[in-house]
Amino acid sequence: MSVEPGEKHGIFIDVEVSPEARADAELAKRLEEACPVDIFAAGDAGVEIVRANLDECVLCELCLDAAPAGAVRVVKLYDGGAALERHSR
Ligand code: SF4
Repeated sequence: MSVEPGEKHGIFIDVEVSPEARADAELAKRLEEACPVDIFAAGDAGVEIVRANLDECVLCELCLDAAPAGAVRVVKLYDGGAALERHSR
């Protein structure tokens, strides 16, 4: 899928990473491996959010499992901004 300049991303989903977690290179690698739709990338400065992929989120909770509690929030913009909670564990 091509991405046009100025195209809006994250219409349905937003992902937030706390500032401490964002700078964690090890966590960045874990998140990059965990997310099946490549919303996270491990960059030089730590966790990067691939905004073009945000709306591909399948709410699998794997990023929540990979990160310390509260470090990553998956926000359901389509659901009034409710945060995805861990359900399966
Ligand atoms: S819930 Fe799953 S698909 Fe969505 S950002 Fe987290 S790991 Fe990626």
